[in-house]
Amino acid sequence: MEKVSADSFAELRPPARILLGPGPSNVHPRVMKAMLSPVLGHLDPDFVGVMEEIKKLLRIVFRTKNAITFPVSGTGSAGMEAALANLVEDGDEIVVGVAGAFGARIVDAAERQGARVHKVEAEWGRIIEPDRIAEALKAAKKPKLVAVVHAETSTGVHQPLEEISRLAHRAGALMVADAVTSLGCVPVEIDKWEIDACYSCTQKGIGAPPGLAPVTFSERAMDAVHKRKSKCRSWYLDLAMIEHYWGPERLYHHTAPITMNYALYEALRIVVEEGLEARWKRHRANAAALQAGLAAMGLEMAAEEGHRLPQLAAVLVPKGINDARVRDRLLKLFNMEVGAGLGPFKGKVWRIGLMGEGSRRENVMLVLNALEDILGAMGMEIARGRALAAADQAYVSLGLGAGEPRD
Ligand SMILES: *Cc1c(COP(=O)(O)O)cnc(C)c1O
Repeated sequence: MEKVSADSFAELRPPARILLGPGPSNVHPRVMKAMLSPVLGHLDPDFVGVMEEIKKLLRIVFRTKNAITFPVSGTGSAGMEAALANLVEDGDEIVVGVAGAFGARIVDAAERQGARVHKVEAEWGRIIEPDRIAEALKAAKKPKLVAVVHAETSTGVHQPLEEISRLAHRAGALMVADAVTSLGCVPVEIDKWEIDACYSCTQKGIGAPPGLAPVTFSERAMDAVHKRKSKCRSWYLDLAMIEHYWGPERLYHHTAPITMNYALYEALRIVVEEGLEARWKRHRANAAALQAGLAAMGLEMAAEEGHRLPQLAAVLVPKGINDARVRDRLLKLFNMEVGAGLGPFKGKVWRIGLMGEGSRRENVMLVLNALEDILGAMGMEIARGRALAAADQAYVSLGLGAGEPRD
């Protein structure tokens, strides 16, 4: 074989971007530093200690006492698959709320596990009404579970969960929630809302790189896992085996991604240091300022009023403006990533994320300034500085006067 010189492959030099899309979000330097720690064996007593601390921290962040609370090895979608592969058996009837790309993803993943899915659809930009879930639960003979997305990242909708959870339990079904974009940004109350299975990710509200999917399962959910008639169809995600690795037996199942667990540990430490309430408040304040600024520019939101996520604004692309050109300029002129629309929203919305570390006043001001500049240059009538003034005013009315970088 011809000898290839390593010189023909350039050293990695990715630019440091301002990540204001639907995730990943920017990572705190403390988290990057934690990732430089020595790699240990996945059964090393020191690493086992880190695992125990991660479980404790995740219980704080998920607001739960659930014993089975740990990070699945894989991104948010692996958490979704873990919930469905373990709770669904061939032929089980389930109810899934679909009002965006991630509700549709649950349907796809559940059907692959043999589920018979009763879809409860709502228009993109609207919430799933609990009444419609109640109807679907009635139509199903023996519904095994209800699954709903808490923060629908494709539309910017904040879906209330508590009422749906109550309906699910009344029908004898388990409640499953996708909290991939909500954990660390808005309240996720596993025990209070009686959520039986919930999955999230590391790269959105938590502030670590992508690679792990924090999950939590109630006793009721674990009962269902232990009483399965058939083996879980996924070997890798079989909770009945993984629980013995993350539990006191420490039975080898697969090699935990050591470095990613260090990252998650440090990111969760930062979350707990800030405090959940303070963190939610910070996300709300920056969202209020961003939305005030966008409104001042005449831009409209895709999500219905009263159900908008603070951590993700889905903004309608104004008539006559090319979505991709704006994002291209944001990237090239401002070094800033903003997300594109998915599915029916392709070319129709921008998705501006203010998640985790990214939810900062300076990012609100940067993205508003950039949009004023780019949209103005594209011929939209934009009064320069109005959006920033509106955002500033929003901070002032929240008692966060100008010049204070965070609350
Ligand atoms: C991002 C996202 C996912 C998928 O997570 P990955 O980490 O990309 O696998 C699932 N659900 C929602 C609501 C998301 O926003």
